[in-house]
Parts: sequence; structure tokens; C-alpha cells
Amino acid sequence: MPADFDTIVNLAKRRGFVFQSSEIYGGLRSAYDYGPLGVEVLRNVKDEWWRSMVRLRDDVVGLDSAILQSPEVWVASGHVSSFSDPLVECRECNARHRLDKLTNPDQCPTCGNSDTFTEPKEFNLMFKTHMGPVESEDNQVYLRPETAQGIFINFENVRRTARMKLPFGIAQIGKSFRNEITPGQFVFRTREFEQMEMEYFCHPNDAAEKFQEWVDLRHEWYLDLGMNPDNLRLRAHEDDELAHYAAGTYDVEYLFPWGWDELEGIANRTDFDLKAHMERSGEDLSYFDQEADERFVPYVIEPAAGATRTTFAFLIDAYTEEEVDGEQRIVLKLDPRLAPVKVAVLPLSKKPDLVETTQKVARAVRGRWATEIDITQSIGRRYRRQDEIGTPYCVTVDFDSLDDDQVTVRDRDTMAQDRVPIENLETYLAERLP
Ligand code: ATP
Repeated sequence: MPADFDTIVNLAKRRGFVFQSSEIYGGLRSAYDYGPLGVEVLRNVKDEWWRSMVRLRDDVVGLDSAILQSPEVWVASGHVSSFSDPLVECRECNARHRLDKLTNPDQCPTCGNSDTFTEPKEFNLMFKTHMGPVESEDNQVYLRPETAQGIFINFENVRRTARMKLPFGIAQIGKSFRNEITPGQFVFRTREFEQMEMEYFCHPNDAAEKFQEWVDLRHEWYLDLGMNPDNLRLRAHEDDELAHYAAGTYDVEYLFPWGWDELEGIANRTDFDLKAHMERSGEDLSYFDQEADERFVPYVIEPAAGATRTTFAFLIDAYTEEEVDGEQRIVLKLDPRLAPVKVAVLPLSKKPDLVETTQKVARAVRGRWATEIDITQSIGRRYRRQDEIGTPYCVTVDFDSLDDDQVTVRDRDTMAQDRVPIENLETYLAERLP
């Protein structure tokens, strides 16, 4: 059973994972700021993705392309003509809705009235702005609605300079912007968000096999980071759901508090994008296979995930309420690789010599793991605070530590405690932490 939505949102706000953008001005809807803990989890999610997609592979390289690109890119990709959602407006209450996301297409979920919708209009989701001091049609540019096109337009640059041979991939993490009709469910659907996308180029004959490989690998990635298999599923797109360019798509879906919803799409995009850019730019983006003496336009397999949405899903999945000795305990059972703080060092009291030893202990480990010192309130309260943000290890410095140079290390999940000599602490933690 997934955690209750409000509980997670409250925890995220209360503990400084996520703040509403521009809160002191009443808040800007559908944009969020990641606080001290949130930025660490988000970064850990992105680092794990980058590690598995780029660092651990010979056949994938990275890229960081610009958010602002030639408007021609978005004409070629089809975003100018068809990156839109069907918008309806309620004549009673003026609420706007995305028609394809309504459970009942005839009833307004805001005011409850039936048959009050206007005819659906296609609403383009790209944010527009102007480049340079003059606001005219000629210098209109878009904020990118996906990171993928930045990869396609650099296909030849990367292939040539990194001397890549097919099959190979180009991966990118970055911000994307969509003027969503109905943002909502906290950071699940926002107008500014972060994506993690990879385009894997291959011979057309290999595309079906590579597609299946990437579907399995991406599914595995979430499970390896500790996501509950009962809350994760792969769903193949029906024929009528497939994007016009795709030969096949699977969504990785998570069981959110409101039901199954998308974390990532893995699509066989065929040669649609490279061909579209060849046609519009006039540049040759085909590939020559010397061994086979064959020239062709590669097919592309694309795993496209959302970093911010995935971070939210990991938080929901990790949230646990347990009863310990008749008391309720809230614990975020995040995989240690994703936990925002890995080690908390807690002096039993505020006495200066205990605090001094605490600082010495923290200095010894903080170069390697995200470490926090927490001095205020009772030790029980502090354990609970650390459990609630998912800190895997709490190290307590007590009065005996001053004599025996040992500390007590408490495990978040088992709550078992070990007495460890300070000089062995790093080795002890290294056996348990990434
Ligand atoms: P949806 O159907 O939910 O609008 P999509 O199928 O258009 O999403 P893609 O274009 O496949 O999404 O984008 C890839 C990933 O980027 C999504 O799986 C999601 O994780 C993330 N993403 C897309 N739109 C948003 C958004 N508005 N807010 C947060 N993450 C998003």
C-alpha cells in the first residue's frame, strides 16, 4: 500500500526537501525549489543514473546541450506543429482541463457540472521567449520541452569527436520546460522539471533486440535502488497510444498514491528524428559502416526518465511507519546511495569536550560521506529526526568516548548498536556504505 500523499508532501516541506517556488510572494504554481535535503536526494538520483548509463559503459558518452536552440530544431522534430494537449474549458467555472486526462470527459472535476466543456483546442506546450532586445516573430525561441533533441542535433559532432562506432548512446541530464495545462500532484507534473534521457543509436536490424535490452535494464535500475517490486510495473503502449514516430514504447510505471503513473518511457523512435533533422538542416546524419560497406540512417532507442518525478517516487516508496516498543517511528528506508545524509554525529550532551570530539569524528568521515552534526534536544528525538530523513548511520559520542576513544554506531533499519573505536570508524562505515 503506497504512502498517503499528504503525509509525504508534508514531510517534504517540513524537513526541507522541497519548497514551493517564490513562497514569500505567495508561491508560483507548478515550480519547486529543492532544499538542503532535497537537493542531495535529487543529485544522488541523477548521479546513480549517470553512473549506470555513462560511467559503467563503454558504449555511452555524455552531453550537456543548451536549453535554447535554433527554432528550426523544434520545427524539424514536430514540436511546433504537434507538441500539444487537448484543452477544454468549463463554461460554468472557467476551469481548464486536459481532456485526455479526465476520468469522465463530460464532467468538470472542479465544479462537478456536466456537459459544460467548450470544444477541445490543441494547446502547444512549449514556452516561448525572445532572443536579443527586440521582441519579434523573427527572434522567437523556445525553452526546450525535452533534452532529446539536443542529442540528435549533436549526433555527428559526438560520433566524430568521440570516435564512436554503432551501436552507441549519448546521455544527457537537464532541465526541460512544458507549459502543462494541469500541473499538479506536487512535483509529479510541473512546468519546469529535470529529465534524464539517453539516445542509443543502432543498425535498424538490431533495434528490436536493443529495445528489449533497454526496457529490461531500465526496469532493473529502479529495483536495484531498492524500489518495491510491487509498486513498479512495465506497461506496453497500445497501438493507438504510440507516438507517431515510435515503433514500440514501454512505460515504467509506479504505483503513486493516486494510482499507476509514468516514471519513464522507453521508445523505439526508429530513424524519425535523424531523418527529420537531415531533411530540414540539409546535413548528412547517416552512418557509414566500413566493415559492412553500408551507409544507413541509424535507429534510436530512447529511455527517457524524469529526475524530479523519480526522486518523488523514491521518497514515497521509502516512507515507512513502524511501531517500536509501543511508539510510532517514521523512517525513510532509502537506499544508502540515495539518502541525503549518510552519517549523523550526535554528542550525548552539549558539554564542550563532547562537542569537540564530535567535530573531530565528523571531520574524519565527512570527506567521504555526507555528514551532519546534530546537537540539540534529547538523543531519542535526534534519532527520530535522522530516521525521518533516512540517515543510514547515527554515531553517538558519549562520556565514555572521552576515555575509551569509542563511539556507538546505530543502524537505521535494525536499530542495532555497535561500539566502534574512533580510529576504525571509517573502515566500519566503508564496509556498510557506498
Ligand atoms: P505525460 O504523458 O505524463 O505528460 P510524457 O509521456 O509526455 O509524460 P515524456 O515526453 O516521455 O513524457 O518525458 C519523459 C519523462 O519526463 C516522463 O516519463 C517524466 O518522468 C518526465 N516528465 C515529463 N513531463 C513532466 C512534467 N511536466 N513534470 C515532471 N516530469 C515530467
